[in-house]
Amino acid sequence: MPPLPRPAQRTEVTLPPRTGLLASSTDVLVVGGGPAGFGAAIGAADAGAEVVLVERYGFLGGNATVALVMPLMSFHNERKQALVNDSTRILPTDHGEGEPVVAGVLGRMLQRLTAEGGAIPPSRETGYTVPFDPEQLKLVLQDMLDEAGVRVLFHSFASGTAPVDDGHRVVFETKSGPIVIDARVVVDCTGDGDVAAAAGAPYDVGREEDDLVQPMTLQFRMVDVMTPQFAHYVRDHPEQWRGVHGLWNLIRDATEAGELELPREDMLFFGTPHPREISFNSTRVTGVLATDVWDLTCAEVVSRRQMAQIARFVRDRVPGFAEAYVAQSGMIGVRESRRFCGDYQITGHDVLAGRKFPDGIAQCAYPVDIHNPEGSGTLLRRVPPGESYDIPLRSLMPREVDALIVAGRCISGTHVAHSSYRIMPVCMATGQAAGVCAAIAVRTGRQPRDVPAADVQRVLRAQGARLRDGLGE
Ligand SMILES: Cc1cc2nc3c(=O)[nH]c(=O)nc-3n(C[C@H](O)[C@H](O)[C@H](O)COP(=O)(O)OP(=O)(O)OC[C@H]3O[C@@H](n4cnc5c(N)ncnc54)[C@H](O)[C@@H]3O)c2cc1C
Repeated sequence: MPPLPRPAQRTEVTLPPRTGLLASSTDVLVVGGGPAGFGAAIGAADAGAEVVLVERYGFLGGNATVALVMPLMSFHNERKQALVNDSTRILPTDHGEGEPVVAGVLGRMLQRLTAEGGAIPPSRETGYTVPFDPEQLKLVLQDMLDEAGVRVLFHSFASGTAPVDDGHRVVFETKSGPIVIDARVVVDCTGDGDVAAAAGAPYDVGREEDDLVQPMTLQFRMVDVMTPQFAHYVRDHPEQWRGVHGLWNLIRDATEAGELELPREDMLFFGTPHPREISFNSTRVTGVLATDVWDLTCAEVVSRRQMAQIARFVRDRVPGFAEAYVAQSGMIGVRESRRFCGDYQITGHDVLAGRKFPDGIAQCAYPVDIHNPEGSGTLLRRVPPGESYDIPLRSLMPREVDALIVAGRCISGTHVAHSSYRIMPVCMATGQAAGVCAAIAVRTGRQPRDVPAADVQRVLRAQGARLRDGLGE
């Protein structure tokens, strides 16, 4: 049976009025436990605020664990940038030296994860990416939140918000019925900005010319890969590769033979900390929106069938995969949805010029990286070698709404700029800055947008965050 179709006609029905249980009142409420939410909760708690973090699933990590998105992409300002980042440690790498431009909460988390064997530290060999184990990541994130004194509530989906005298009252759907949490400041780290949208903050979706967003991708892990055999094949067939994008000829042959029907011309692989495991970022579903339940359902079904084709294809045609099998697939991965209109909108030009802002609260050196919203192909454009750009505090402040900050992939930027700052390390950094700003706003009785950027920068530096020289010193 095909999935339940979208109703042909829009018929609205009235629902019974209801009450909700007041579950908590807090200084700072972080909604969403992904990279941004984790950064925000630690940033706010370390800055002295009482913090509650609420997440719709039963564990932390967001895309990194729910959607099996890996590795952490590069947060280094390479002086010579290779065409694409790699973590397979199989492909010949061509990366120049680079310094990290993100530290703070990310740095502390990586130290922990690496010490526990759950991540490979970034280096020229990994193309400055960080291959990690998602199960170990879940545990490290939980331990760090517990140690920071953040109270967590899982299995609670934010469905609405109403202004209260001194902040917001956010409604969550739970198995215990509707609950509400009052907060002086909310940090929306839901990726889609569900709370900010419910609060009426204006946002954009997709490309300026046609509103199309980047495609969705289901990521999956194959294990029992004979890596030496695969590595041998890769080295003997350089014509099949452009960085980690590869297998063009084999894909063409399999497509002509009717074995593959994919809207992309290559496969994108990544290594993990486990030598016989490969992570695939190779399915693609275009023309779907993350804020539309019918599109999400369709994307899950279509991408999982693509996964089955890909697994069959690599087993049949790619040396080293004969015995490999899919150990796990994630939930459909969403690259792009709402981008809130903030007090400043980051542009593609800012990214490619390595632009600096006096209210910079995080840095990013990752390229413009746009998976074609219409089909095959991926556009990559570099930040100048050795450079990075600043993310201004103003881009975290949604217009027309107070007592609410956005962080992570839904901050204010164009479609092009978003394709760069959406990577997980940078989302964690904007989260940390949002958390610090929220804590200062509560302590000083100001609206977040009235908190001086210099105060946020000083606290971020004290928390170990990496800002451009001259900021927060
Ligand atoms: C296929 C794909 C490949 C990618 N590849 C990479 C890569 O290799 N490396 C990299 O660094 N980045 C990569 N990215 C980008 C990166 O994964 C995301 O941009 C990043 O995870 C965004 O972080 P976030 O915290 O803003 O949101 P998310 O990671 O999406 O986290 C949001 C959290 O909020 C929760 N949530 C959502 N709505 C609600 C609600 N209403 N109520 C309560 N909780 C809610 C979610 O369950 C989730 O835990 C990729 C993305 C995709 C989709």
